[in-house]
Amino acid sequence: MKTYDILVVGGGVNGCGIARDAVGRGYSVLLCEQNDLGGGTSAASTKLVHGGLRYLEHYEFRLVRESLIEREVLLRMAPHIIWPLRFVLPHHKGLRPAWLLRLGLFLYDHLGGRKLLPPTQVRDLRRDPEGASLTDAFRKGFEYSDCWVEDSRLVVLNAMDAAERGAEIRVGSRCAEARRDGQLWRVVLQGQDGERETVAARLLINAAGPWVDKVLSSTLGSNSPRRVRLVQGSHIVVPRLFDHDKAYIFQNADGRIVFAIPYETDFTLIGTTDRDWDGDPGDVEISDEEVQYLCTAVSEYLAKPVTPDQVVWTYSGVRPLYDDGASKAQEATRDYVLTLERGSEETSTPALLNVFGGKITTYRRLAEAALTRLQEALPVKGQPWTAGTTLPGGDFPVEGFEVLVARLMEDYAFLRPAAARRLLRAYGTRCWQLLGQAKSNEDLGQVFGADLTEVEVDYLMRAEWARRAADVVWRRSKLGLRMTAEEIATLDDWMVERAAHLNQSLQAAG
Ligand SMILES: Cc1cc2nc3c(=O)[nH]c(=O)nc-3n(C[C@H](O)[C@H](O)[C@H](O)COP(=O)(O)OP(=O)(O)OC[C@H]3O[C@@H](n4cnc5c(N)ncnc54)[C@H](O)[C@@H]3O)c2cc1C
Repeated sequence: MKTYDILVVGGGVNGCGIARDAVGRGYSVLLCEQNDLGGGTSAASTKLVHGGLRYLEHYEFRLVRESLIEREVLLRMAPHIIWPLRFVLPHHKGLRPAWLLRLGLFLYDHLGGRKLLPPTQVRDLRRDPEGASLTDAFRKGFEYSDCWVEDSRLVVLNAMDAAERGAEIRVGSRCAEARRDGQLWRVVLQGQDGERETVAARLLINAAGPWVDKVLSSTLGSNSPRRVRLVQGSHIVVPRLFDHDKAYIFQNADGRIVFAIPYETDFTLIGTTDRDWDGDPGDVEISDEEVQYLCTAVSEYLAKPVTPDQVVWTYSGVRPLYDDGASKAQEATRDYVLTLERGSEETSTPALLNVFGGKITTYRRLAEAALTRLQEALPVKGQPWTAGTTLPGGDFPVEGFEVLVARLMEDYAFLRPAAARRLLRAYGTRCWQLLGQAKSNEDLGQVFGADLTEVEVDYLMRAEWARRAADVVWRRSKLGLRMTAEEIATLDDWMVERAAHLNQSLQAAG
């Protein structure tokens, strides 16, 4: 039976971030993910690397400061999948006064050592182009900076980097049972085909996001009380609503905020809702009421109202918020909490580290904090290293994206500009590896729909653990927005066949 230093349960942003940090410090690491990487909450976020302007109202200064600092760290680590985004915040006469918005944005600009991102500006919405899409009621506004992130790609790139440094990443592998046995954990992993395998680990990390309590109770047999509060958040996607590349942040009369963000060139992303969820996180789905809520919220601001029949796609996720006893979903802390549970008194091993809460934005800091905690139970190895180390494909300067586009178009002159940009946004400098010796579109093989080619799907299967069509068209890309159901079904069949072929070749080789 193979023994690892660390076994991470959960391939969301937090589990993959911890696995990457730990393997880079010299620990042997196995990560198991029951479905697809980023198949839980990490693919269902609003996709912002942000300080969280609204959390200032809840006095979460530590979290906001850490998040604001982290924006630029992450931007430098992965400038292909993370980029600056400007937000327009219209002043609503009946809601927060202008002086309060100004104060909040002053803090936002100055709390987090901003260097790359431009500061807040006052906007005259009667004259400025961003006012043109709004009703006449909105005359004044503010514009501030945050960043956009391709959330599911961030998860996969952390897993890739971890694997390239020696971690084992298992997708479609559920941690079905874990028991302490002397100095070690004995962990049963169950594949989606039902096959079970037992491995051993010196330390177990429960990074199962909204399933963290379930792993504690069912898998580990612990009877500790519930410690995460599950809060559903849903988004809708509609055809593009405005002609500029800035996002809006709208205040709602119930105290919440709703974003309207330029999305995948031709669309606008609207979200999010915030309501308690008590079902299985895997079953979460947007309700008609949430669709209506989001349409009503943005229609109060936009000159042209948005209606449910415009919705082309939706997604829903469950926030695993640490249960601090707050009364309303939107008031529960967004900060993360790590707990280290020791085994027997005498040996103090094997230990269990639980991850509660956390945001996409703070995943790297959460991983560093997890490494500090786990070194109470494992021999200390390595130093923090992830802040200055780029993720796969991100080894180019923050301002260098256009230069990269020009280089790719020169090396692969047959690519359409839109396709080149999409590939670079997804894979960065790894595009050269993906496209290899291709000299023409024909060399890229079958086209499955939109501009998705056989060469790209093959790369996603070999390098990024994609197994089914949904992994490709809804997580590692959003090409599902441009493909028909038939095209997606054909892709799925092709991938299943290809996977069987790859497995056969692997078995023959070894
Ligand atoms: C609507 C919404 C909007 C958000 N917007 C933002 C935002 O804009 N910016 C931001 O910074 N944060 C945002 N967040 C928060 C952020 O998305 C989450 O906090 C983060 O993704 C949680 O990551 P995680 O790794 O802890 O959980 P998850 O991504 O859910 O990962 C946990 C994984 O564990 C796996 N798992 C569970 N049980 C087992 C088992 N027994 N064996 C193996 N695997 C298992 C699951 O399949 C899952 O993939 C948002 C969240 C929501 C819901």
